Amino acid sequence: MFTLRNAEFVTTVAAARDLPPAQGAEVAFVGRSNAGKSSALNAITGRRRLAFVSKTPGRTQYINFYRVAPGRHLVDLPGYGYAAAPAATRAQWNALIGGYLQTRAALRGVVLIMDARRGLTASDRQLILWLKPAGRPLHVLLSKADQLGRRQANVVLHDVALALRRERVDASVQLFSSTHKMGIVEAAARIEAWLAGDGHKKPPVKGE
Ligand code: GDP
Repeated sequence: MFTLRNAEFVTTVAAARDLPPAQGAEVAFVGRSNAGKSSALNAITGRRRLAFVSKTPGRTQYINFYRVAPGRHLVDLPGYGYAAAPAATRAQWNALIGGYLQTRAALRGVVLIMDARRGLTASDRQLILWLKPAGRPLHVLLSKADQLGRRQANVVLHDVALALRRERVDASVQLFSSTHKMGIVEAAARIEAWLAGDGHKKPPVKGE
């Protein structure tokens, strides 16, 4: 067995052609810029500076790979939905991330980090559209849940779960806070189960 706490940085890539060979199992982290993705990666791996918490939203346009165990990787995808990003940057992002999510053979599951105060945005829905045809399982972290009262947090949890059911996507959802260490055990268990799985139940994606 392995632990996410052994995560260590392997490589960073800026273009699909530079992706490492798709061997073993990968779990990808995605989310809007500033949703708390880097903080979540650090909290879940127990590594304070594994991923850099960004001061400038939308700045990172690279895919970072972290090795948890031989052939088991966490993949940090660049944040999206940053309105000030030029159209060309957004098009590049769509090609890189859309391509990765739809065709990556090693991808076992996707963790979507969503600010609990914002709920499901249009960009999140676009992402879900990419996951659906390939049958990628999705786990949603409703981040910064510490900013909501308990009752309000449960309303968001219920609403997002309902929205995901309506999207007919294979998804689970939980409350999460990096700063308050909320939901970390639950999230880590989900990710470790995906990484430990020997294969994907679904048939291979066209083009793989
Ligand atoms: P990323 O752009 O999605 O990687 O987001 P970051 O992890 O860089 O976080 C963006 C901002 O949200 C930073 O100022 C973080 O300190 C803050 N943040 C991240 N996670 C939490 C959380 O669980 N609770 C609160 N209150 N703030 C958070």
